[in-house]
Amino acid sequence: MKKVVILGAGFSGLHIFYKIRHLIGKKIEITVVDRRSHALLKPELPEVAFEGAPLSHSLIELEHTLENRGATFIQSDVERIEAKTNKIILKNGKHVIYDYLFITLGAVKDYDAIKGYKEYGYSVCDDLQAQKLWEKVKNFEGGHIVTGAAKSYWGTRVQAPKLSAPCEGPIGEVMFMLDYYLSKDKNLEVINKYQIDVFTPAEIFFEDVGDKPHEVIGEFMTKKQMNLHNNKLLKEIGKDFIAFEDGTQMPCDLAIIIPPYIAPQVIKNSQLGDEKGFIPTDTTMRHLDFDNIFAAGDITALAQPKLGHIAIIQGAIAAASLLKELGEEIEIPPHDLEVFCIMNMGGHEATLIDSNTLYGGNRDIAMYSPISKLMKWGFDNYLYFNRGHMPPDWALKMTDKLTQMF
Ligand SMILES: Cc1cc2nc3c(=O)[nH]c(=O)nc-3n(C[C@H](O)[C@H](O)[C@H](O)COP(=O)(O)OP(=O)(O)OC[C@H]3O[C@@H](n4cnc5c(N)ncnc54)[C@H](O)[C@@H]3O)c2cc1C
Repeated sequence: MKKVVILGAGFSGLHIFYKIRHLIGKKIEITVVDRRSHALLKPELPEVAFEGAPLSHSLIELEHTLENRGATFIQSDVERIEAKTNKIILKNGKHVIYDYLFITLGAVKDYDAIKGYKEYGYSVCDDLQAQKLWEKVKNFEGGHIVTGAAKSYWGTRVQAPKLSAPCEGPIGEVMFMLDYYLSKDKNLEVINKYQIDVFTPAEIFFEDVGDKPHEVIGEFMTKKQMNLHNNKLLKEIGKDFIAFEDGTQMPCDLAIIIPPYIAPQVIKNSQLGDEKGFIPTDTTMRHLDFDNIFAAGDITALAQPKLGHIAIIQGAIAAASLLKELGEEIEIPPHDLEVFCIMNMGGHEATLIDSNTLYGGNRDIAMYSPISKLMKWGFDNYLYFNRGHMPPDWALKMTDKLTQMF
């Protein structure tokens, strides 16, 4: 029986687990390690931050979910991976041995890198931040709101787009959901009672998609009188201002920021990353230096942008790579990436974005419709009630077909 270990039970770790679990007891045993007791569904956090939705709907309990399905779950921080001896050192002092390893630990949001963030900054990127933001939003009486992403930096070992901001979708949700809440739910009616300014470190906002999404998002921003500032590198957040590297400042009473993405320290400690700590893999998601290590999702150097949808595509590839190695009849899917996300805009409003222009394709869809909202609702609920199990492939293909009709 081969020992398979999955480090990190987020989007990609859980997807890999569901893809390989049919071999438990036949060819493999599986151990999953995560520091959290519950996986966090981050795409649902904007609802926590701007609608006061309960956090419980964004959480999937891990121990029973995994152990009832035949795996061993260990709740612990991973401290080091000793790839030469196939050994993982955990924070509780114990260690785990593997024959095959999946590393799906995600990326770290580096709040500490932003001067003044601790005192004055807000974000939507994790459960604590989203709940803290809702407390602020609920009591917000008007003023200047500034939202945007800080710049992230990447290594050079693999060929991948180098995005300044690897996940700007949440910024779209922040600005539209906040505007919806303040204008409709909270009824801060007078338009100049609050002003939303949006910045991006890139030359263009949403640099990972093509013209159509830019057009649709741009029209909404104009209609809602939001200002957009390109090429802005965040320097500091102050009590009533936000400052940029080019010497400019904006008045700011509420700063909502996506911090820089960095690689987890454990990968740097274990010398398994590129010069920035993200894991270099080939397109079958196998580590470039270690044949028995696979990686998927935000932690990989190939995942650009850093999206749950890409974590799932890569998770399926990594799982198939192992299954094939274990003698199963399976084709390894191609590493065909695309940007696919549904931007919640508050109320019944949402825009579905489906674009592969970043990878040289010509699909570039932006579907603003209540159907998009319904699709998001259906997908989020499916994932929650099925404990992180993705909808079946036929349902995803049907979604794709439906999208392309628009
Ligand atoms: C607000 C927000 C909204 C988003 N909306 C969308 C969306 O609509 N669509 C979309 O496609 N993507 C969206 N994303 C991006 C998406 O959430 C991520 O790309 C996805 O979660 C990445 O999956 P992953 O499995 O790589 O990592 P994660 O889901 O981050 O999972 C990593 C796991 O590893 C664990 N871990 C990390 N380090 C350690 C350690 N040292 N020891 C033990 N355990 C550890 C963590 O606890 C976590 O459970 C959004 C992101 C945010 C922040």
